[in-house]
Amino acid sequence: MKQRGGTIGLVSLGCPKALVDSERIVSALRAEGYDFSPDYAGADLVIVNTCGFLNSARAESLEAIGEALAENGRVIVTGCLGRDAGAIQAAHPGVLAISGPHQYEAVIEAVHEALPPAHDPLSDLVPPQGLRLTPRHYAYLKISEGCSNRCSFCIIPNLRGDLVSRPAGDVLREADALARAGVRELLVISQDTSAYGQDIRYAESQWRERAVRARFFDLAEALGELGVWVRLHYVYPYPHVDEVIALMAHGKVLPYLDIPFQHASPRILKAMRRPANQEKVLDRLWHWRRQCPDLAIRSTFIAGFPGETEDDFKMLLDWLAEAQLDRVGCFKYEPVAGARANALENPVPDEIRQERFERLMQVQQKISAARLQRKIGVTTDVLIDEIGDGLAVGRSKWDAPEIDGAVLLPGLDELQAGDLISVKITGADEYDLIGEPA
Ligand code: SF4
Repeated sequence: MKQRGGTIGLVSLGCPKALVDSERIVSALRAEGYDFSPDYAGADLVIVNTCGFLNSARAESLEAIGEALAENGRVIVTGCLGRDAGAIQAAHPGVLAISGPHQYEAVIEAVHEALPPAHDPLSDLVPPQGLRLTPRHYAYLKISEGCSNRCSFCIIPNLRGDLVSRPAGDVLREADALARAGVRELLVISQDTSAYGQDIRYAESQWRERAVRARFFDLAEALGELGVWVRLHYVYPYPHVDEVIALMAHGKVLPYLDIPFQHASPRILKAMRRPANQEKVLDRLWHWRRQCPDLAIRSTFIAGFPGETEDDFKMLLDWLAEAQLDRVGCFKYEPVAGARANALENPVPDEIRQERFERLMQVQQKISAARLQRKIGVTTDVLIDEIGDGLAVGRSKWDAPEIDGAVLLPGLDELQAGDLISVKITGADEYDLIGEPA
């Protein structure tokens, strides 16, 4: 009879990058014969993959560790909050081990110590593409770790270190394995996708019969040959992004860019120390739209950054009206412990941060709704995510999972998640499109 290493529970918090870390941990442990339990009661121990970015995320992570300890009693902590082991130990002295982000080996070692693996040469039944926590038809593809920028509100470089890019060949082999396993959409993630390869001087590596450089364009082009949707997240508006827009115009990668602009006032952008902080960003957006009229642009902004005046904020609203972005997320500035921006003068009171957040969302809601209205009558491919009561819910090339809207398809509940169908858009509300088979 097959002897197994034990059963593990996993709580995965935080961003898609943390989810990819969780997938690697699950894949590695599954390969060693460990089982996974969906609840605390069925697990011999619980791994909590934490997020430490915002104060609210730290609190959520500490709470999750406490819950796992109360429900199960044996807890291994990893992820971004793991960099602050002192805070975890102070709150929860009973945890078995603590490691930081992408320290997979430390997690595996801690599991071995607490729950020794049983040797079983037949236990390696893990498919080559690993095990994933996202639905079967889409997957996040992490192309680098860390970040060499130093935005004043962000502590990610402290948590994860400087940019470390994966060789292009490795990324492409993983992407190819995912595509062969039935994944229909790859979501390329990193902290700064447009900086990919800078740290390794765009080194070439082998992919199939050729060498591919670790360069944003080269990687996007090669991914575009795999026959699946490729969506690019966390891109900054550097001039070299122009050449990737050409790939979008030719249908090689999705006409979608997720660019975290964060603000539009030059004074605030300078105080934020944002990368690619150029004067002519609006010109660049319009240039891209001329190159690729179908392009959808998503962004995020921070309202109430320290020192932001009403004039700065109005500049941001005016900029949004001109930029006509398709999708926008907004955060109220939050003084993350350890961020240099906390020391800036003239912090914005909480009620003004809240008020500006609401004003920004109102302005953007009208823009997004008007842009969605323009899609009515268009025929486009839709990737089905889930089936509900008499309804299929999917996404077009303009919508990323989790963060954007959806395409609602009433009466199509015979479809399956992962189906790709041609849809005529017949209606739109503030966030979602409504369609029918074309
Ligand atoms: S680009 Fe700026 S906000 Fe993004 S991870 Fe790097 S330092 Fe943080």
